[in-house]
Formats: sequence, C-alpha cells, structure tokens
Amino acid sequence: MKTDIQIAQEAQMEHIKEIAKRLEIGEDDLEFYGKYKAKFTEELWEEVKDRPDGKLILVTAINPTPAGEGKTTTSVGLGEAFGKLNKKAVIALREPSLGPCFGIKGGAAGGGYAQVVPMEDLNLHFTGDFHAITSANNLLAAMLDNHIQQGNILNIDPNQIVWKRCLDMNDRVLRNIVVGLGRKVDGTVREDHFIITVASEIMAILCLAADMKDLKERLGRIIVAYNYEGAPVTAKELNAVGSMAALLKDALKPNLIQTLEHTPAIIHGGPFANIAHGCNSVRATKTALKLADYVITEAGFGADLGAEKFFDIKCRMAGLKPNAVVLVATVRALKYNGGVAKTDLSAENLDALKVGIVNLEKHIENLQNYGVPVVVTLNRFMTDTDAELDFVREFCESRGCEFSLSEVWEKGGEGGIDLAQKVIKTIEEKPSNFKVLYEDNLSIKEKIETIAKKIYGASEVTYDGQASKAIEKIENLGFATMPVCMAKNQYSLSDDPTLLGRPTNFPIHIREVYVSAGAGFVVAITGTVMTMPGLPKKPAAEGIDVNEDGVITGLF
Ligand code: ADP
Ligand code: MG
Repeated sequence: MKTDIQIAQEAQMEHIKEIAKRLEIGEDDLEFYGKYKAKFTEELWEEVKDRPDGKLILVTAINPTPAGEGKTTTSVGLGEAFGKLNKKAVIALREPSLGPCFGIKGGAAGGGYAQVVPMEDLNLHFTGDFHAITSANNLLAAMLDNHIQQGNILNIDPNQIVWKRCLDMNDRVLRNIVVGLGRKVDGTVREDHFIITVASEIMAILCLAADMKDLKERLGRIIVAYNYEGAPVTAKELNAVGSMAALLKDALKPNLIQTLEHTPAIIHGGPFANIAHGCNSVRATKTALKLADYVITEAGFGADLGAEKFFDIKCRMAGLKPNAVVLVATVRALKYNGGVAKTDLSAENLDALKVGIVNLEKHIENLQNYGVPVVVTLNRFMTDTDAELDFVREFCESRGCEFSLSEVWEKGGEGGIDLAQKVIKTIEEKPSNFKVLYEDNLSIKEKIETIAKKIYGASEVTYDGQASKAIEKIENLGFATMPVCMAKNQYSLSDDPTLLGRPTNFPIHIREVYVSAGAGFVVAITGTVMTMPGLPKKPAAEGIDVNEDGVITGLF
C-alpha cells in the first residue's frame, strides 16, 4: 500500500493558474509562489465581494484518537466528489503547524487519495505565513523588553507581562524560561514563556481580521502587560502596530493550491483548536463563498472544541451562516471511546462499539443545538468490518440522521459521491436555522457554564481563585461582551482526557483566564492544556528525510 506522501508525489499537478481558471480567476489576481502555489491579490476581494454567497459546509468530528479521525481527508474528498458531480466547489482549510508534523499526529494535507498538493510544501514552509506570524509576535516581544530597558516610560510592571514569545515547534523546554541574564545592558531579568505559533494571538487575529484596516486595529488592541497601577498596556502604546502589520502584509492573503483531482483548495491560517479557536481565516472563507457554489471548511479536533468555536466565535464575528454540518466518525474512534486501547483498534469489537457510540450521539445532539442540519459520515478504514459499519449506519438512521459511508481515502472523489449527494439533498431540503449557543450579553462565567453544561455535559464549573479574579478584572476592563475561547483537551468531552465516551456528572475546572483583546475573545483554560506542546518519545521527526534529488520521505 502506498503512503500518503508517495501518492502525493505521484500526482500530476496542474499549473496553479489552471486551477484558478476553474474559479474564473485570471493571472492578474494571483501572486505566484512557483508553479503550484499562489496567493490571491488584495484586488480580488474587491472584485468579488458583492456577489451572492455559496453554501457553507462545516466538517467536524467526534472525539478523536491521537491519530486524527479524517476531517481533512473527508473535507478534501468531499470537494473532489463535488467535482465529480460537476458542481463548483472549493475547499477552505487551515495551514499545518510544524509541531504535529514532527511530533505525533503528522501533517494536515488529508490522506490517501483525498489530499491537497504539493503536500510537502504545505506541511513544511508553504508560503511563509507562519514565519511572518512568528516574526510579528516576537517583534512585539522584543519591543516590549526594549521599552523596559530604555527607561520604561509606560511604567510596565515586569511581573505582569502577559505577552509571550512563540515558535512553530513542539519544544517543551521553552515553556518556562528566564531571559535577560547577564549584565545591565543585557536587559531586565524576568521569567518568560514560549507558546507554539498556532496558539499566538497574532494567529487568531490574522484569521479573524476582515482586512488590513481591521488587522491593524486588532493588533493595536493586544494587551502585552499591565502597568504598576494594574492598567493594561497595549501594542499600540508600544508603537508596534505598523511594523507588525508590514510583516503580515502577505500573510493576510489567502493561498491557493489543489487536490489530487484538481479541485481548488484555499489554505489559510491555522490556529489549533484545543488552545485557540481552530478555524481557517475569515478572509479565505468569505472569498471562497464568493467564488463557488459549495464551500467546505474544517474546524479542528472534535465538535466540542472546533465546531463550538467555529459557530460561537468565527460565525458570530464574521456574520457567517453555515448551511450544513458533516460529522465525521470512525469505527476506530468509536471503539477507542468504548475503552479499546490504541494498539487494538484494528480488531472487530462490536461490544466496544456499542459502548463508544454514545460519543457520536452526544455530538449529534450538540450540533442540533445550533440549528444546522447534520449529515453523519463514517470514514471507512480497511480494518472496519461489515458488522461494525452496519451497526453505525443503523444507529444513525434510527435517530433520523442522514448517514453516508465515505471511502474517499481509498478512492478519492469517487468514494465521496454518496456523501456529496446527501449533503446537497440536505441543503436543498432542510433549512438552516443557525443560531449561536449563547448571547453576547451573558457574563463571562455564564458563557463558560453554558458551553460546559450544554456542549460538554458537565454538571458544574469550578474556578481557581486566580481565574475568578481574572474574570472580574476582564469584566471591569469592559470585555464582558466577548465570546469565550475554551482551551481543553481534545480526547474527552470533559477536561480529563481519560474520561471517554459520554461522561456525565463531572465538573469542569477553569485554571486560568485571560483576554485576547485583539482577537476579541476571552480564553478559559481547563485542565492541563499546553500552549507549548512537547515531542513524544519517538517523534515523527526521526523518520523524515530528504535525498540528493530533493525528494522528501517520511512526512505523513
Ligand atoms: P483530522 O483532520 O481529523 O485530524 P486527517 O484527515 O488529517 O484527520 O487524517 C489523519 C490521518 O489519518 C492521516 O494520516 C490520514 O492519512 C489517515 N486517514 C484518514 N482517513 C483514513 C482512512 N479512511 N483509512 C486510513 N487512514 C486514514
Ligand atoms: Mg485536520
């Protein structure tokens, strides 16, 4: 059997200008990054912005196994299937982070015959967007420390610096560090921290900004520290906005690549879903809606994290109205949720499936809360047995839920035709009455409690003393109307990654709360979620190589 990277490297890609032609975009509206990658120009948006919108389809999933459940694979395959049906579709996804690429999960270009290409470029440096974001983030950090060094006119309290440095790498030793050691000219000694780039507020801002003007306003509102009186100090006060925006000028433009079957794919922005809001950029999604009749987008991890934040943060802020949700399940993940060990997921186990199916049930109920029609799709693995597939199909059908078996990993678009037809039928027959889960005017604690109880199924929410204090302060500063961005592990509906299936009667504990004033949300951190992940015992990095002809192996 061929690996993902072998399939990707055998692909006959079309020149990116041919892909753009399918969306009626001419060469003048493209900025080429070689033959197979391009960015959209600023002018393109101006040309298309008054057109009617296509239909917006969100792909989300049940709680995953550590390998991922195939949301990206399904999104890409569904886009290819629309192509087979001669429908004008475009895929709008996130850019991968180097952290998981070299860590445990691998890249994010899809899998099998449902991939976007060039896969190696996308998974590694791509068009440099993440480097730009990292640079903007760290420029702000450097200007902040320099401000203190040069006399500290803003009266910044070095013990209340909240801005962190970032790097797009899993590197746990940088979580807690000391900077400024040495002589007086080497800066003020203080504790500092690194986060992964995809958790940076700059990433969230880039993904939520409507345009350059909005980007600059959001950058200006970033709170970097508090002064000795406890008042916030912003990036604007450090005079950092212009140079950060200059670094982000090109990163703000969506990127165009293609699937193995030449479906256009707009890949832009990439916040993680467990520690950030988990969606591709608003700009990419809005442009996509003007260019095609069907837009397929993905939100990270399970629906408790990705879909909730897609609806309650991205759709709320950008005024998007999704038309349908595709909920991806796998027999493997259902068995994992039924208590089977990671190493035993390939063996048939109907008993575990019956225990784990409650996870799918909860996600269906949750999505129905948002008023958007749901299609469940089972992403088929070679090891799934007919008895297992039949069980899941019957479970969905008995709940009046549209169901489709997807074989896009094995067959590309051909394997997703039934799914595409069911999605089209659902959009045509079932109206979307999309509504957000909670209103802006609830207090921060009421918002957290609504998400914890309605989406996670928690019985109560408890707070660390400092988290409660932070909420009070955030509300006093006038940020109470912002939505909440929950940071939680992806494996469980609860804040304990070992509680699988559909846990009940558990508390959610809020450890830390802070405001991302530029992004426009309040982050609530549960459990032990890491904003800088570490590498596993055997990182994927050990298996990656490049030969003398420049051919890369081992990426997945
Ligand atoms: P997600 O987007 O949910 O994290 P991905 O689509 O990235 O998941 O898939 C995760 C990994 O699983 C990829 O390496 C992909 O090749 C593999 N994969 C996905 N679907 C299948 C399938 N049906 N059979 C085998 N491997 C699959
Ligand atoms: Mg994915």
